Parts: sequence; structure tokens; C-alpha cells
Amino acid sequence: NGSDWKFQCRIRRADGEVRWISVQGRHFGSEQGQPDRILGLVQDITSRKLAEQELIEKERFIRQVMNASLAGVYLYDREKGRNIYINDRYTKITGYPANEIKNMTAEDFSSLFHPEDVDRVFAHMNEISSLDEEHMLPLEYRFLHKEGHWIWCLSWDVPLIRNEDGELVQFIGTFLDITEQKRSQELIVKSEETHRLAMSAAREGLWDWNLKTNEVYYNPAWGQILGEEKIGRDASEWKDRIHPEDRKRVLESLTSHLEGKHADWEEEHRLKNKSGGWTWVRGRGKVVMRDDNGTPLRMIGTMEDITAYKENEKRIWQQANYDALTRLPNRNLFQELLGKEIERARRNQGLIWIMFLDLDGFKEVNDTLGHRTGDELLVMVAERIQQNVRHSDILARLGGDEFVIVLSDTTEISEINKIAAKLIQAVAKPCRLGEHEVSITASIGIANYPGDAKSFDELLMYADQSMYAAKKEGKNCYTYFTVALQQASRLRGQISADIKKALERDEFQLYFQPIACLENDDIHKAEALLRWNHPEKGLLKPEGFIPLAEELGLIMEIGDMVIDKALSQLSHWQESFNKEFKLSINLSPIQLKSRNVQGDDWLGSFKKQGLIPGSVILEITEGVIATPEKSVNEMLLQFKHAGIDVAIDDFGTGYSSLSYLKEFDIDYLKIDKSFVKDLESGSRVEPLCESIIVMAHKLGLKVIAEGIETALQYEMLKNKGCDFGQGYFISKPMPSDQFEREFLSKNT
Ligand code: C2E
Ligand code: CA
Ligand code: CA
Repeated sequence: NGSDWKFQCRIRRADGEVRWISVQGRHFGSEQGQPDRILGLVQDITSRKLAEQELIEKERFIRQVMNASLAGVYLYDREKGRNIYINDRYTKITGYPANEIKNMTAEDFSSLFHPEDVDRVFAHMNEISSLDEEHMLPLEYRFLHKEGHWIWCLSWDVPLIRNEDGELVQFIGTFLDITEQKRSQELIVKSEETHRLAMSAAREGLWDWNLKTNEVYYNPAWGQILGEEKIGRDASEWKDRIHPEDRKRVLESLTSHLEGKHADWEEEHRLKNKSGGWTWVRGRGKVVMRDDNGTPLRMIGTMEDITAYKENEKRIWQQANYDALTRLPNRNLFQELLGKEIERARRNQGLIWIMFLDLDGFKEVNDTLGHRTGDELLVMVAERIQQNVRHSDILARLGGDEFVIVLSDTTEISEINKIAAKLIQAVAKPCRLGEHEVSITASIGIANYPGDAKSFDELLMYADQSMYAAKKEGKNCYTYFTVALQQASRLRGQISADIKKALERDEFQLYFQPIACLENDDIHKAEALLRWNHPEKGLLKPEGFIPLAEELGLIMEIGDMVIDKALSQLSHWQESFNKEFKLSINLSPIQLKSRNVQGDDWLGSFKKQGLIPGSVILEITEGVIATPEKSVNEMLLQFKHAGIDVAIDDFGTGYSSLSYLKEFDIDYLKIDKSFVKDLESGSRVEPLCESIIVMAHKLGLKVIAEGIETALQYEMLKNKGCDFGQGYFISKPMPSDQFEREFLSKNT
């Protein structure tokens, strides 16, 4: 219609490339309106088009970034007095839609800031203009949410555009909703308050140390532990209170914890208390806060009063190391002390003398005057020894009436002689104990390191042996360890080894001696007697090795072996010859006394044999029941239950008191051969034997007479009503096969 037209479009060029063009044209034509000509202009606008599109993309990108941001963003124009841009997050945080915000004036806003914060907010806005673009200014304030509650905001504002005079026209701000963080912070503060409250109520000492200020908060219990009303807040005060002996250790471990080398800190140490004394405490703590560099900021912990515990510990240590009666070191501590002395002497090539002091006849004092007087006597003796040795010497009580003295600074033998003599004199002085005047003497054995012995055990053993030598020499004297003693000791070692070998090689053998029933001369009994078939020395009698075996602690093994052999022999004889046959077995007192632990096992071997009750007679000596121990009593009862009979051996040589017999369940009494030997018409022992037999019968015991060597003795005992007899007159002890031939085959 004669008007202009224009459009933009993409065309494909001959070379295939797509280009944007702008086309402008005008129609020229006739009056009738039929155009006959078009004049036009075509322009390539590809590059402009691309730039335009890029801009649109950019804008969309920025908007997306803004809206995706977790922060609210606003652009404030100071001349217009309102926000000219806010992002979506702004609306989400505050609840106000964009158009509403954009219409709000500064005055409108003032009612949306918390009354307590509003002044701060406006002052802050004024400050923004003086900042350069680089610097953001953070601000925390409360803002009224559209729904009427307060939210906490944290915002940063940055100047954006200034006019020609440099006045700030626009600034851009971002802000975060920090309501949640604020709330949890408040909770932390509150929980800290509660924590402190809890601390002050606790009985345990608690502390909370701010390492930045070096201030410590202590709860009241802390003060109570130290008896102080108030404790200075400075951490160094605690450090100053630490006992000098503990300080280095405590502070070192604390430093190592602060440096992160140890997970926790814990130390027992002493702190000076109000009265100037020391209170034992156990401190425990942990760093609970560190900065990004790992520097500790806060450490909290506890402090426990362990004075009572420490005292207890000390008491326990004392009980374990000191003798309660004399307050001297006991064997335990003595071993430690002498061990150290030996070590020292080894290094310095020194000489140590050790004295083993044992009282003579102390047992009698105990038995006649009672344990209490005995104890008083021991205390007295301990004091007297103490007064006659140097303070640096070690004095200990090993138990019972045994004392040891270690002299490590005295080397001259003449000095040692003097000291030993002084000690003997001091002990021998009579002393008054209650209403009794008591006199006691001591025997001393002396040995030295390194001349006599080099180890603790040997040194003590040699001193002990020398003491026994002093007793043998008549007591109330001292004896040095000598070569002779050493040889004796070696010999004992040799014998000990021999016995062990003998047990292994089965060199022990049982002999059997018949026991006759005096009423009808029948033989249904025998006593098993031990023999040692020594490869070099021949047949040895028990006297030669049993006392040694007892001393060397080998009697248990020997005893077990005897019982095994005796029982199997007995059951064989019972099965093959005589069901009624009985066998007597000798028991060492030591065997009985140390049996209580495994007593049941031991009796088991009797039960296993399935013997007829009463067919085994165990012979024990008077001494065992004269000083009965509970365990022995129980053992005798166990014998009873197992159907084992008990005989008192060698009756008449020891206590010879029939009163003991009443208290125990004894079946036989064996009159010792020394009585039988002197038994002739008219002799003094005759009525004695007679009365023993009568009394034993009254108590329900059967009597066996030992050592019958003559027909006269045999007849006399028979006439006096003695039940059984044993002795060379009937037969000597003999090996089992011979016994079988002579006494068992005949009987059947
Ligand atoms: P015991 O129990 O008094 O044994 C009796 C001892 O007297 C035996 O000496 C025996 O040979 C001896 N004897 C027997 N009849 C006569 C006689 O008519 N006249 C004389 N003079 N002596 C006679 P043996 O066999 O030398 O035993 C000595 C001691 O050794 C025993 O004395 C006993 O106490 C102990 N004994 C023996 N065997 C064992 C054993 O297996 N274990 C334990 N623990 N001790 C044993
Ligand atoms: Ca016997
Ligand atoms: Ca006997």
C-alpha cells in the first residue's frame, strides 16, 4: 500500500552457511494501488544478532544464579529510596513478594527491623558509602517475617554505583537466614550455663580451663578437697600447688596432651591444701575445643580426692612388706633389699655379711606362757637387735623366731665377731613380760657375699645352715659358715639328686614284717618298711634317707610311691591268699600336714583299690596329734570315712599322753620297742606297759607291741592282754616273695 515493510530472517547462502539478514523495502506503484516496483535494502546482521542473543543468555544466567542462590539479594537505590531488584530467595526468606518490597520506602522498612536492631541497621547503611567496592560489611539483625515472626539475618552490603560527586547511589546486598544457627548458639550458651550449674552441684572437683585467658573455673567441691574457701582463677595457681616431686611428671603429661600427643590427660599427684599438708588427687581431663590450627582453647576435667585410697594403698604395701608384729621388713621386702645390696656389692666389689639369728627354745615359751607372751618376747628381741646394729644395716624378720641382719658397711671380721657377741648378750638378758621373767638365748649363723655364696638363696641358706651348726654346738653362740658346712651342704645336694634318680629308676623296695595275733599266734597282718637298693651302697635302711627326704621336700613323692606299692601288694595278697589280711603303712608327719590341699585325690587311690574296710592301717606318730592342726583332724576324719584304720606309732617315746587319744578316732597303739626291750619281770617298765594296755583297751584301742626279740617278752605281753606283737622274735622284715612263701602260703 505504498508503505514500508521490513523483516529479519535467516537465509542459506550459496556456500551453505546460514546468515541473519534484515530486509527493508518500499513499494512503488500505480494510483490504483497495484505495486509495480519494490525498492529494498538487504543487510547482513548476523554478528549483531549473535551479540544480542548472547546478552539475553547472560541476563538469564545471572537471574538464574541470583534465584538459585541461598542468599537473598537486593539492589538498593538511594535516590529512589527503594529496592530496585530482589531475587527469589529474598521472597522466600522474608515472605514478601517482589512487587511489595520494591514499593517499600526506607520508612516502611524501619518498622520491619527489630526495635533493638533498627538504629544499628541505619547506622550501618550510612557507613556503606564510605567503603570501597572491595569491602563488604557484615551485619546481624532481626527482620519481621511477613507472617509476623522474627527471623535473624546476616547481611553483607557492597557499594555499587556512585554519582559524579562520588556519592553512593546504589548498593547491592546479600543476606542469609541464620535463625537456626542463632537458636543453637543460644542453646550452647544455655547448656554451658546448665553445665556450670551441674558442675557446682557435683561432689567431685570439676574444672573448666580457658587456655586463651589461662583462667580456670572450679566448682565448689574443688575448694572443699583442698579445704580452701576460694581458689584463684589463674591456672598457674594450680601448678604452684603441685608437690615438687610430682610437678615435672604432671606438667609434662599435660603438655603432651595439649600438644595432642595423648588422647586424655590423667595423673595422680599431691596438691598443697589449706593446712599446708598434701592431698592426693587424681586429675583427669581432655581438651574439648581447639582452633583450626589445633591450638587448644578449652580443657575440662575432674579432680578426685584419692588420699584415702593412697593411704590404703600404702597400708597394703606395708602389710605386704612389713611384719605386723615387730614392724620390721618381712621376708618379701628383705629379699628385695638384700637383692639390691648384692647388686651394689657386685658393682663395687663390696663385701656383705649376713647373720641369721634364731631364738633357742622359743617354742617352749610359746607353749608354756602362751602366744601373747611369745609375741611380746619377739618384739622385745627385735628392739634389742635394733639397738645393737647400725641404722644403715638391714634388719628383717623372716617369720617365727627367725631374724636376719645384713651388714654391708662392716668388713672387718673382728667387727663382725663383736657385733655377733653383742647381739647374743643383748638377747640373753632376762626380760619381764607381764608377770613373767623370761630368759631366752639366740643362735647366730654367719655367711658372706661373695666369699661363701653369690646368690640371695644360697647366702640365706648358708647363713641358716651355720645357725643350725651353732645350735648343734650348744646354742647361745654364733658360727661362721665353713668349708665343712659347705661340704655337708653339697652332700645334701648330692643325696637329693640321688633320691630323685632312685625314684626314677625304681630303686625303692618294700620289706614286710609280720605282726602276730598274740591270742592265737596267727599272722594276718604285716608292716610295710621301706628299703633303698642303692646301686653303690647296697641296701639302705630308712633312717639313712627318710629324715633327709623330709628335709629336702622329697618325702611326698616317696610316700606316694610307698602307698602305691603297698596297696597293690595288699590287694594281690588278699585276692590270692587271705581276704582278711591287713597291712600297716608308715606316714611321715609332713605327708599328713601338706596333704590337705589334694587330700581327696590321695584318698582316691585307696578307694580305687576297693579294699575291705580296716585292711589298711596308717601309722602316724604321737606328735601329729599332740599338736593337731585343723587339717590333720579333717584328714583323720577322711581316713575314717574311707575305711582306713589309724595306729599311733612309737607310743611312749614322745608325749605319751593318753588324753590325746580320746579326742581322735584311733584304732591301734604301737608300744615302742624301747619299752619292750626293758620288759623283764620286776622291771620298772612292766607296770607301765600294763597300764598302757589297760588304758588303751578302755579307750577302745587295740595294742601292738613292737620290737619283741625274746620268747619271754612275747609271753609277758601275751599275759598282759596285749593284742598283737611284732619283732625279730617272730620275724625280721623281708622282701615280699619271701614273706609270701613263709607266711601266706602256709596260712592258706
Ligand atoms: P618304725 O615304724 O618304728 O618301724 C619299726 C622299725 O623297727 C623297723 O626299722 C624295723 O626293722 C625295726 N624292728 C622290727 N622289729 C625289731 C626288733 O625286734 N628289734 C629291733 N631292734 N628293731 C626291730 P626300719 O625298717 O629300719 O625302719 C625304721 C623307721 O623308718 C620306721 O620305724 C619308720 O619310722 C620309718 N619308715 C620305714 N618305712 C617307712 C615308710 O615307708 N615311710 C615312712 N615315712 N617312714 C618309714
Ligand atoms: Ca611303724
Ligand atoms: Ca615304731
